[in-house]
Amino acid sequence: MQHKLTTVACIIKLTTHFMQNHDKLKPMPVQIRENALLARIAAKVLRSPHMAIVMKRTIHLHNTCMKDFMQNRRWVRHELKHIEQFERYGTLRFVSKYLYYSMRHGYWNNPLEVEARAAEYDDSLLEKYQCTEPEHAELS
Ligand SMILES: [Zn+2]
Repeated sequence: MQHKLTTVACIIKLTTHFMQNHDKLKPMPVQIRENALLARIAAKVLRSPHMAIVMKRTIHLHNTCMKDFMQNRRWVRHELKHIEQFERYGTLRFVSKYLYYSMRHGYWNNPLEVEARAAEYDDSLLEKYQCTEPEHAELS
């Protein structure tokens, strides 16, 4: 009995190990969409000339191209943190939390924004996700 339990524990441990390694080897694809309507609306609301806004696994851009965006590593890491938050909470919970926090604390002090700003130097985000243009992302 003891032996069987140990075997089961070993299998679970190995499976977890391989799953974690698998995650590390295959970064999750993130789509980047240029000239996106959603980002244009957000830019207008927040009165910002340039805009990147995350919806699920897509980063929507306004008034900035993918090349310029990708060169701004701090900005990329910030938006990837929002992608991670989307995964953590799911779309409905993330969007409602984000709107609620924005109303309660304002944009700058929104805890989800505070967390994203704190992650702007976190290089592990660049390994965890792979940014691609929409047509490339559809192939993979
Ligand atoms: Zn943000």
